Formats: sequence, C-alpha cells, structure tokens
Amino acid sequence: MNDLLRQLPRVDALAGDPALAHWPRERVVAQARTLVDDVRARVLSGELTVLPELSKTLRERMTALGTQRLRRVVNATGIVLHTNLGRAPMSQAAAEAAFEVARGYSNTEMELHTGQRGGRLRGVSEPLCALLGCQAAIAVNNGAAAVVLVLSALAQGKQVVVSRGELVEIGGSFRVPDIMRVSGAELVEVGTTNRTRAADFTGAIGERTALLMRIHPSNFRIEGFTERPSTAQLAGHGVPLVEDLGSGALQPGLGDEPVVGQVLADGADLVIFSGDKLLGGPQAGIIAGDPELVQACRTHPLYRAMRLDKMVLAALEATLRAHLLGQVPVAIELMKRDPKEMAKQLQADLSGCGLQVDVVPGVGFSGGGALPGEGLPTTLLRVCVSRPERLSAWLREQAVPIVARVADGALLIDPRTLLPGEDEWVVDALRRWGDRSGTSEYEGP
Ligand SMILES: *Cc1c(COP(=O)(O)O)cnc(C)c1O
Repeated sequence: MNDLLRQLPRVDALAGDPALAHWPRERVVAQARTLVDDVRARVLSGELTVLPELSKTLRERMTALGTQRLRRVVNATGIVLHTNLGRAPMSQAAAEAAFEVARGYSNTEMELHTGQRGGRLRGVSEPLCALLGCQAAIAVNNGAAAVVLVLSALAQGKQVVVSRGELVEIGGSFRVPDIMRVSGAELVEVGTTNRTRAADFTGAIGERTALLMRIHPSNFRIEGFTERPSTAQLAGHGVPLVEDLGSGALQPGLGDEPVVGQVLADGADLVIFSGDKLLGGPQAGIIAGDPELVQACRTHPLYRAMRLDKMVLAALEATLRAHLLGQVPVAIELMKRDPKEMAKQLQADLSGCGLQVDVVPGVGFSGGGALPGEGLPTTLLRVCVSRPERLSAWLREQAVPIVARVADGALLIDPRTLLPGEDEWVVDALRRWGDRSGTSEYEGP
C-alpha cells in the first residue's frame, strides 16, 4: 500500500500534461488534485491494489468538463412532442428571434417611441389576445408555473372545486392536489372518477369558493361509462371558471383537443396552456382571459419569480405572430405528415448498405400529453440487426446523436420527426454501421 502511495504522481506534474495546456492552469490543478485525493482514499481503503492511469483519467475528465452536454439531436422516434427531446421544435424565425436578443441588447422593457420604460409582456400579450379573442393574457415559465400562479393569486386561503376525474398527475411531482397545497388553496373534490355532473360543481359552491377548475386529462383517457360537464355548463355560476388546457391547440382538427379560443368563447374566465406543446413555441405557460383575473396574476409577487427571460419572450412572440399569419407550427406539420414516401426513400438510399431494411406500418405519438390515446399511424423503417440496442446506442454517440426506437428485436426509425436534412445523417450513419459490421455484424465498442 505504501508503495502504491509513493507511486502516486504529484498534482503539479499531473496537471502539467501538455495535452491540457489550453485550459487555465488552476482549472487543471483543481481537477488533478481531486483525482489524486480520490485515488489516495481508494488505495487507503484497500479498494485499489493497482494504480489506474491517472493522466488518461485526467484527460477524460477534462474532456467531459469541456463538452457541451445539451445539444441538438435527431429525433427518429416519431414522438413529436417528446419531453426528453425538448418537446416542440421551434420555427426558424422563432429560433432566430431568440438568438438576436440573446447576443446583444434588446428593448425587453423599453418603448422605443418614447424611450420610457415599457412592459416586457407587450410583444406576447397583444398577439395572444388577437389569437384567442380575449382581453388580457400573460405568460410565465411553463404551464405548471401558470397553474401555481393562478391558484396562488386567485384562491389562496379559499376553495377550488375540481372533479375527482381530473385530479391528475401531469408528470414527475406535479400532481393537482399537491399544487393546490403549495398554492395555499383548499381542494374541494366533487363527483367520481368516471362521472361528474355540473350539479356536483354548483352544489359545492359556497362562501369560500374562489374558483371552479377544469383540468384537461392530458396523458390518459377514461373510457366507457363517463360524464364530464362542459365548459358552458360550468360557466356563469358567479364563480370564475379556470381551465388548465395543457396543450393549447389554437386551431380545430387535432383529435378532440380543445381549442383555446373556443373554450374562452364557451365561457371559461381563464385558460392556462403551455407554450411548447401544440403552440409550437418555447417553454412557457400562458394565462389568458378576464382582464381583472389576469391582472391579479400579473401583480402577484410570484409572477416576478416566474417571469420569462428575453430569449423566450422573443421566441414566443415570433411563434404567436406566425400563428396570426396563419402559419402552421413545425410540430403540427409533423403530426399531419404522411411519412410513407420518406420511409421508401430512406430504404432506397440504404440499398446495398449491408443491413436488412424493411418498410413497415407502425404508430407514432403526438407526445406532450396532447391527443392522449391517439396514435399517429405511420410508416417505419425497420432495421433488422441481431443486437438493436447496440446499434441504437451507437447512433446516440454520433456527432449529432440520432435517437431511434428499439422494439420487437429491431431498430425502428420513424421518418415523421426527421427535420430537413436529417434523413441524410440517418442514412450516412446506418451506412457506416453497415460497413463496419460487414458480414459478421459489428459488436460495438
Ligand atoms: C403539460 C401540462 C401541464 C404542465 O405544463 P408545462 O408547460 O409542462 O409545465 C399542466 N397541465 C396540463 C393539463 C398539461 O397537459
């Protein structure tokens, strides 16, 4: 053991590696010290009986430290609003708007014609009101934040009536009853899991009722003997009706996703929806409807803690202005696309690549809780290899990682979610895998 300890390199010597000369010296010294301390402790505990190659480990750690982890990937899964892959792909215009304000100064809070301070939400509030046909709208960091803000501003210390069929978990630790608690609102559950009527809601209205709330069952579906009161049935009972719509479709035609403007027209006093689901913009949570209710949210102290950053504001505004012009968001174009021709083209481009590639029918998904239960009929490229997980892992290690699905012993590529130019990367990567594997299939690194 003492021998091993004596063999430990000096921190200085280790950090002097010429291959790490582009790093600030202190940064390398700090990492080298941590590494040597680590190894010393493991020697002392008896865990290590041979010294690892410290200079190699240090180089690897420095490379990892210097490598951007969050980056672009190719989504070959066919899941359009894939939460793990960043949900909605934004339009070029939205991405450029974010880039422009990010790289320099911007009029985030200035009215240029007066030079005076201006509201930072103006660029999104006005197009939102025009799109939704309402009088007031604000946006915060995401849909979950919007729900917390609405409940905190409008129902703290009071009651909120919700159907038992809508006490959902929307993801991770975001559960309606928990959100009520952190917002200081008291949840009043009415009806049953499968059937709740308007009379259940109205019967629960009392002096302390602040809101009636409807929550879109985004990520599940109850089938069979069910009943759910409509917006119109719950509106106009002297208590504001709030609807958490989740996805926020602006146009009809996406399964039975509620259309935001229609929900307001039907009588909801306030709606909440996400910016990066069907709206096709950046992560944001929108609150729109009655001006007094919106203003109460806007002036609540929590608003300041949830307010949008300039890059998101710019991207959201560009997204909304594109909607005003009738342009269809990328995500919705992808949902409506028929990938059959793309699949056939990919198969043709892969001919002679040494892999068995079939074109087969399959299903993709909208994702993001939009259109639950409704698969998107699609055409898949089925790559038959003996160990599809290995191919899948190798694809994720490409310069631009490619994320595909593995099912039924094959690698599946759904061309639906491939953006322009990405089909070539997929072909190129699969050809390289085919070349490497030759007749005896490549066993991976
Ligand atoms: C997705 C969703 C949310 C949360 O929105 P985020 O923007 O992801 O925070 C809240 N409610 C419903 C019904 C949803 O579908």
